[in-house]
Amino acid sequence: MNHQFVPLKAGLYFVATPIGTARDITLRALDILASADVIAAEDTRSLRRLLEIHGVPLKDRQVIAYHDHSGENVRNRLLQYLEDGKSVAYASEAGTPLIADPGYHLAKAVSEAGHLVTSAPGPSAIVTALSIAGLPTDAFFFVGFLPSAKSARRNGFEAVKDVPGTLVFYESPKRLVQMLEDAADVLGATRDAVVCRELTKKFEEVRRGTLVELAASFAETGVKGEIVVLVDRGQGDESSAEDIETALEKALQSMTVRDAADTVAKAFGVNKRKVYSLALELKGK
Ligand code: SAM
Repeated sequence: MNHQFVPLKAGLYFVATPIGTARDITLRALDILASADVIAAEDTRSLRRLLEIHGVPLKDRQVIAYHDHSGENVRNRLLQYLEDGKSVAYASEAGTPLIADPGYHLAKAVSEAGHLVTSAPGPSAIVTALSIAGLPTDAFFFVGFLPSAKSARRNGFEAVKDVPGTLVFYESPKRLVQMLEDAADVLGATRDAVVCRELTKKFEEVRRGTLVELAASFAETGVKGEIVVLVDRGQGDESSAEDIETALEKALQSMTVRDAADTVAKAFGVNKRKVYSLALELKGK
């Protein structure tokens, strides 16, 4: 038996569930699912199946269906259980609740009502993809699903174009090729990207290339399954940082710090204060 029955404090327990392989669940998640007074789930069937696989008995507990859009009634019912001092475990269909999944409105309502909100952390496709893609992970921005309409999707890319970190998208296989083509157009055809498909499952695949190469490659092979797309940050930022430094060094040879900073900030269309502190730093060297 992989689970234990443990006494749980009253509160809401967000339980992360596997994103592909059923055994990717933590022992603590199983303990919480075995021990919670009340279980709620985005997809009651898949949660029942997971409990069955791991031999966690439901006993006389029912699994309550909850989706943020299922609205206030179910949310109020769950809140009432917490008022009554009960523990409530909630799982979304796969991965971590609230990550492109329901749970936000529930977490908000429960914390506003002053009850405990805690978690049994575990799998999420974002972190799984980042950990194997080979792109920088010092900073990343989770975009999630972009809208499916072309112009809205392109606006979505525009909005994150200059984010100084790896961009992480979820995408459906039906739209992957168009999405990569739009990304190539808006973010730059030669940006490095990685497509992670069917993570933790039998047909797991990681394909790397520039955006334009990946679009062509998937157009040729076709694509099925669940997908995370990661895009490296634009290199423009790095080279222009170098350019700014070089321009400042030159300007400092004949100008005061303030004038050099003003001139260079204007020339590159960047924040004056940042350039000023860089100029002070360079002057000090
Ligand atoms: N809550 C989940 C999480 O923590 O990752 C995400 C749920 S969201 C509704 C489903 C999307 O996550 C899929 O369409 C896909 O983009 C991504 N995803 C989930 N499982 C995946 C897997 N095994 N491989 C690749 N992508 C996955």
